Amino acid sequence: MQTFLIMSKPADTIHSVKGVRDLLPEECALWQRLEAEARGVFGAYCFQEIRTPVIEPMALFVRTVGGETDIVSKEMYTFLDRDDEQIALRPEATAGVVRAYIEHSLYNQGGTQKLFYMGPMFRRERPQKGRYRQFHQIGAEVIGSDHPLVDVEALEMLVLLLERTGIQQYSLLINSVGCPRCRPEYLRVLRQALESVKAGMCNDCQRRTETNPLRVLDCKVEADQSTIEKLPRIVDYLCAECQQHFEAVKSGLQQRKIAFSLAPRLVRGLDYYMRTTFEVTTGGLGAQNALLGGGRYDRLSEMLGGPPAPGFGFAIGEERLVMAAAEAGFLKPASGLDVYVAWMGEAAAQPAMELTRALRQAGLGAEAPLEPLKLKKMLGVASKSGARFSVIIGEGELASGKYQVKDMSAGSQEEVEAGRVAEYLYPRLGR
Ligand code: AMP
Repeated sequence: MQTFLIMSKPADTIHSVKGVRDLLPEECALWQRLEAEARGVFGAYCFQEIRTPVIEPMALFVRTVGGETDIVSKEMYTFLDRDDEQIALRPEATAGVVRAYIEHSLYNQGGTQKLFYMGPMFRRERPQKGRYRQFHQIGAEVIGSDHPLVDVEALEMLVLLLERTGIQQYSLLINSVGCPRCRPEYLRVLRQALESVKAGMCNDCQRRTETNPLRVLDCKVEADQSTIEKLPRIVDYLCAECQQHFEAVKSGLQQRKIAFSLAPRLVRGLDYYMRTTFEVTTGGLGAQNALLGGGRYDRLSEMLGGPPAPGFGFAIGEERLVMAAAEAGFLKPASGLDVYVAWMGEAAAQPAMELTRALRQAGLGAEAPLEPLKLKKMLGVASKSGARFSVIIGEGELASGKYQVKDMSAGSQEEVEAGRVAEYLYPRLGR
């Protein structure tokens, strides 16, 4: 015999995990519209979508993003799988995209690969407005070319996307972080400069002085910022090739009238970047004002055991894009409801459901009450859900075979033959 537990008090409610959030339908509508804009812009620049898994081997990020970065050392969600494999929830997508590029030999397809992605990322950060533990990025990667015009064209694409989302108040900050040829000399000078000031800096910076001094530059500790401002600048130590690349990027942007500012200490919190790094910041986002960031990662493929495949990419924080776009007046789409079918009397129920089904099959958004309701109530529901038209079916309409079709905003009403409602509505809905 089965025994049942009789609960004497109501169960506790279960809340979402700290730092993550639900996107309710109204917000989803805005997200979808922004994603559609992004897809449109990516399509115009011939980027194709790639979807990589949310879980990856932990080593992928340790090796590429870097064990000394905050993302890997403090914020990564990891677990030991049942077969003892170390897994990570992806904190970013570029490493996974390049892993896939190598794993599926996309380099054999000739030319550069232009890929975009959209999806959730995970970082165990301190939650605050615009900063979550599960957040979303829309990103793009160009893999297979080190030409500076790749950088310029990707930035041009970004500017178009920002334009399409109505965001006008933003700054594009760019820098170059050199390459494996010139960076060691800069690191030597940086380490030397840090020797005399590190005692006054945070513990992490003291450790990074030894392990990975470049990471000192993206320390977030407020008290360290004035010291960091005075450290040597990497742009003063670039080799001839890096300098040439940087100059070409800057003049390409100028030619295309894309405004930018130089940010000599912008190194971004990921180790795989070399040469160009950039960020777009915008007001109105509060403390978390970085809307997106990216740069060049010419050695990433080789770091993962792949062929030489220089690349350039960026990731937009979707939560922040939505916030900035909403602030800029990017409106959510009108309700999806085209037609509300109101019926009165039991005999009208079946014809109303059939009409609703036919309208849906014809691609219109249609809704009908499943239970009898008063006409006033039904018209109230129709206008609340933003229906453009209502169809009214009662005893008289059934007898005449003509339904009343009401234009909800004009308030006007016309009789339409029962079998011709979709035909009547199509042009009036602009289809
Ligand atoms: P990153 O992958 O660190 O280069 O970040 C690129 C963009 O992702 C940032 O500019 C933010 O817009 C967004 N982002 C990064 N971390 C978070 C987070 N914890 N919550 C929300 N957005 C984030």
